[in-house]
Amino acid sequence: MKKIFETNSPEETMAIGEAMGRAAAPGEIVCLNGDLGTGKTVFTKGFAKGLEIEDHVVSPTFTIVQEYHSGRLPMYHFDVYRIDDIDEMNEIGYEEYFFGDGVTLIEWSTLIAELIPTRVKKVLIEKAPELGDDYRRITITEPDF
Ligand code: ADP
Ligand code: MG
Repeated sequence: MKKIFETNSPEETMAIGEAMGRAAAPGEIVCLNGDLGTGKTVFTKGFAKGLEIEDHVVSPTFTIVQEYHSGRLPMYHFDVYRIDDIDEMNEIGYEEYFFGDGVTLIEWSTLIAELIPTRVKKVLIEKAPELGDDYRRITITEPDF
């Protein structure tokens, strides 16, 4: 199933993330892709809100993964942009996150494509310069369970 949304502000993108977070189930994996600065982290902040996470969500760029435990379900937020070697994923024990009871969000998941299970939700965020700086097209693809 594929849905396309168009937003014109970070708040609108957050609201889409929030709705997805509200509906999130244990074990869910959400792959976030799109160029730098398109709104993957903004979307994740909304998602965290939907999970009722109270902590401030920060980009985990230098730690690869950031865990949040104050919400309805644990949330594991990966950003693998700076990974040089897939072994770094093994070192942090990614399987415990991906196949656990929390919800995993992965920014730049295509960089670790070989580790991504087949049944995941995919969020692609794209700009369209001719439609303004704040325009984003968000394509959400969900597996048919
Ligand atoms: P990424 O994680 O994809 O690198 P961020 O979420 O960190 O990107 O940053 C997105 C930036 O784009 C933020 O500065 C945000 O304010 C801005 N922005 C402008 N319009 C939008 C929009 N429609 N949706 C999301 N972010 C937007
Ligand atoms: Mg980011």
